[in-house]
Amino acid sequence: MSSNIEILPLEQWLPSHGSPLIISGPCSAESAGQLINTAKAIAKLPQVKVLRAGIWKPRTRPGEFEGVGEEGLKWLFDAKRATGLMTTVEVAEPAHVELALKYGVDILWLGARTVVNPFSVQAITEALKGIHVPVMVKNPVSPDVKLWMGAIERVYSAGITKIIAIHRGFHYFNKSPFRNAPMWEIPIELKRAIPNIPIITDPSHICGRRSLLAEISQKALDLEMDGLMIESHIDPANAKTDAAQQVSPQGLKNLLDNLVIRERQGNPEFQNKLEELRTEIDKLDGELLEILAKRMEIINEIGDYKIENDITILQMKRWAGIIEDRLSIGTHLGLKREFLLNLLKLIHTESIKKQEERFKQSGR
Ligand code: PEP
Ligand code: MN
Repeated sequence: MSSNIEILPLEQWLPSHGSPLIISGPCSAESAGQLINTAKAIAKLPQVKVLRAGIWKPRTRPGEFEGVGEEGLKWLFDAKRATGLMTTVEVAEPAHVELALKYGVDILWLGARTVVNPFSVQAITEALKGIHVPVMVKNPVSPDVKLWMGAIERVYSAGITKIIAIHRGFHYFNKSPFRNAPMWEIPIELKRAIPNIPIITDPSHICGRRSLLAEISQKALDLEMDGLMIESHIDPANAKTDAAQQVSPQGLKNLLDNLVIRERQGNPEFQNKLEELRTEIDKLDGELLEILAKRMEIINEIGDYKIENDITILQMKRWAGIIEDRLSIGTHLGLKREFLLNLLKLIHTESIKKQEERFKQSGR
């Protein structure tokens, strides 16, 4: 899966953002005082470049705090003037776009609940036509990279090339320490599918609680994400939304100061050595695939032999023997038991499929 849209590289339109791009601010704008005090405190941190604040809040159930609306945009404008930070808000309908732009919001973002609905994304896209405002697109709540790509492509179709994807995690039904499972493979797939797309991680909505933020933030940077959006609040314990996951300005400072920002490229000597090791890996992968192909050939031969002799495909005794033997060899070679089990199951399933195909073809 790939997309041929041409996103403008981040450094070409946010040249002063440094690396990584850090966006912070409250989950929701609650009052003039809360917003300006949070903004002034986080603007002191040199890493923070953009102030976020939710103005219209998508709440799971009615009756919960739904944001302050237009009034909050005035506070945000004042905060921008007072601190020099750029500003960003979530827009969920065309009217939000118009209002946000009226109050000089620099970057818009589409939330996870909006991105799941192509009608909503399309309606917002119509409102964005001819307006060259940068737009950030959160991942949809469901782990569906195509839906995420689709929303980005719709925004792009409005003529917008300044697009950032935000990775905020996915609904997940199994037990997990996270509010939303990070499923890192999905943003990585997005990066592969849309070259140049900057992706920033939103550890706040992944973690759901402050204590996990540092670990996820570091992991995001180590996986070459281009920045972080972290919720911060002057008084997190009394926040009207997402109180458990917001950090105080001091908490944000500690988190940011402790991040290890590793180089992406390394010096030429490092590059050479890396190249050497990668060549070795390429060669081994080639051998591995050849061996697998050879194994499948023999599987086919066994299949034909079983057909001739009217023998069943799956022979449990043989399979149990294989598992026991290969686990013993593999673990002695230092491979993990769980990994071996997964690998053997995968190979075995494919082998059975192959033989089933042979059986079908033979008409027996
Ligand atoms: C938010 O950023 O406050 C928010 C509502 O996030 P999401 O759309 O990721 O749930
Ligand atoms: Mn929030």
